[in-house]
Amino acid sequence: MGEPSDGQSRLDKIVRQIAGLMVAEVCSIYLKRQDGSLELFATEGLNPGAVHNTFMKRGEGLVGRCAELAVPINEPDAQNHPAFSYRPETGEEVYHSFLAVPVLRGGDVLGVLTVQNKTHKEYSDEDVEVLQTTAMVLAEHLVTGAVAGVNSGAEFSRAVGHVVRGQSLSEGLALGHVVLHQTRVVVTELESKDPAEENRRLEAAVEELKASVDEMLEQGELAATGEHREVLEAYRMFAHDRGWLRRMSEAIRRGMTAEAAVERVQNDTRSRMLRQADAYWHERLRDLDELSDRLLRILAGRPRNGAHMVQLPHDTILVARTMGPADLLDYDRSRLRGLVIEDGGGQSHVAIVAKALGIAAVGHARGVMERVDEGNPIIVDADSGEVHIRPSSEVIAAFGDKARFQARRHRKYRALRDKPAVTRDGQKIGLHINAGLLMDIPHLAESGADGIGLFRTELQFMISATLPRLERQIQMYRSVVLDAGDKPVVFRTLDVGGDKVLPYLRQPAEENPALGWRAIRLSLDRPGLLRTQVRALLRAAADQELRLLLPMVSTVGEFDMARALIDREIDLLRRRGMSDPAKVLLGAMIEVPSLLYELDTLMPRVDFVSVGSNDLLQYLYAADRNNTRVAGRYDPLSAAALRALGAIAEAANRHDKPLSLCGEMAGRPLEAMALIGLGYRSISMAPVSVGPVKSMVLSLDAAALQRWMAGVLKSGEGSLRAQLKRFAEDQGVEI
Ligand code: PEP
Ligand code: MG
Repeated sequence: MGEPSDGQSRLDKIVRQIAGLMVAEVCSIYLKRQDGSLELFATEGLNPGAVHNTFMKRGEGLVGRCAELAVPINEPDAQNHPAFSYRPETGEEVYHSFLAVPVLRGGDVLGVLTVQNKTHKEYSDEDVEVLQTTAMVLAEHLVTGAVAGVNSGAEFSRAVGHVVRGQSLSEGLALGHVVLHQTRVVVTELESKDPAEENRRLEAAVEELKASVDEMLEQGELAATGEHREVLEAYRMFAHDRGWLRRMSEAIRRGMTAEAAVERVQNDTRSRMLRQADAYWHERLRDLDELSDRLLRILAGRPRNGAHMVQLPHDTILVARTMGPADLLDYDRSRLRGLVIEDGGGQSHVAIVAKALGIAAVGHARGVMERVDEGNPIIVDADSGEVHIRPSSEVIAAFGDKARFQARRHRKYRALRDKPAVTRDGQKIGLHINAGLLMDIPHLAESGADGIGLFRTELQFMISATLPRLERQIQMYRSVVLDAGDKPVVFRTLDVGGDKVLPYLRQPAEENPALGWRAIRLSLDRPGLLRTQVRALLRAAADQELRLLLPMVSTVGEFDMARALIDREIDLLRRRGMSDPAKVLLGAMIEVPSLLYELDTLMPRVDFVSVGSNDLLQYLYAADRNNTRVAGRYDPLSAAALRALGAIAEAANRHDKPLSLCGEMAGRPLEAMALIGLGYRSISMAPVSVGPVKSMVLSLDAAALQRWMAGVLKSGEGSLRAQLKRFAEDQGVEI
């Protein structure tokens, strides 16, 4: 393979050599085309004229079946097999026995390698093994360009683009090159001369792996990443699995290096995994897959995942199976353009960090890890949730245009930065940003926002390895207050629990975490946590105004209890002679529907309210905000949702209490317009949304909208999106 020659003669030589080696009359290579069909690329024994002229449709014949199921097919009497598909141009009618193995690379089927003989015989296990190993070598060469220059009607599937559909985690568009978060060890040495030595290396590596997994279990290192105990046990079980070790040893006995043997067995696992519909077994196989990665790293002498390369490409797109927020923060932000995660969902913590960093991110991108290699060109379109792997030049050109268009728009928004957000009829709309980490604060000035409408304090807790103590919290909040300058900051007290897990805080597993022991519920039951946080916030805002916001309030009683706790802390501070804030304003988040029916009791007790529309709508529609199947089912611009939001605005108005809304809908111009139509005069959003929303505000006549909306809401039903859009178009509102 190493000899310099063109792609076609290499393939021809391979089939000739395999045929000789296996004493087969025929050996052929079929490669997968983009549409899933298979093309005969090279053959020894079949009619040479059939090369590049024989195509098998997806799943057609025994070759198609081998590719589809990703398993070897061993038939002594192929022609009488019901799936056999006869191709007169190949002249294969005289061959009876047939063996096909898939050409696999990282779980992807690139093609099929076959041998045929005239006699009726079943190929031995050793034959199958030899052909599979050869297929592995072939796969390696295929992805490194062994077929370059072959005159074929198609390119094989790995070479050309794949589109993986996922879920948008952080909007934006990014073109760049893949950096694998968990760098897979590339196995280059496949054949060994000393099986005994290789076996010794494998055994030593497996011992090290077992020890590291046992240690992990004891230290709870994996538990810290949110894995369940059961998963840890499964890990241990697989690490100690004799069958796994035996299969790898057998591969070594057949002449492979320890690394190649691990990868060979891993390939089998991956292809079984891809066929596995049962979620439980899929997960278990994934454990085994990850253990193989770990074992490869041990063999390569870098047991720790030192994924963070010395020099990242300037247009890095990270691709990860899973990733925590702290992992993402390890990378050099100036070189990061995008992120694709196989597992992570919309509200995952890493998504929140990606948003804070302003990088395009897509999650739930099933199968992406198997399909990319380090350095591949890739496009992340987080607006549509699509990831284009190895895109064609046309696709790159189209996205290049889109990216340039977006950049132009950004320039336009930047020009609006210092303009106040006032409607055409003179109504001032407060535009604030959501934040959660110190690095978000510069966005305040960059976006020209009026303040921080929601500071999610739990983010600092989530990226911390241990519980931040009082002094560290004081330091943190003081920096936020200082950096924000004269712009107000609304600090939300800890909203943990549910899916926001603090690795160092023991929380029971819950069947319905979104309805569980979280936020203020947890804070009131474990007051130590809230007390320390409040103390830190009070001290950080000494002599200044402090705005505190309580999450997930479900009853007025909870608000009262929290206020009592906070008042006690203020008292304590004064008694100790320390400076307290000049003023403490305490607000409630309205994000649980029960409060909608207690608004007139709640409003007199609060200093301000902020609507958490993400949660409010999730509970109103009983639709999990993390579940893509149901989250997109209900339109926030439906009459029902808008009436609920309208009722809050009316109550705040009646009681003359400042009102804001800080859920995702505030950042979408059409939704933000609807909120203004309901009477909202302050909203809080991701920093990137400030420009587009301000552009909408500047072109809006709020009074006209409010009159129009009152009418529409009276009789409207279902989604009012189309009507709102029409209003915007008729009135020339920029949405
Ligand atoms: C909300 O629920 O709308 C909200 C702003 O809070 P979070 O997204 O942090 O739950
Ligand atoms: Mg919420």
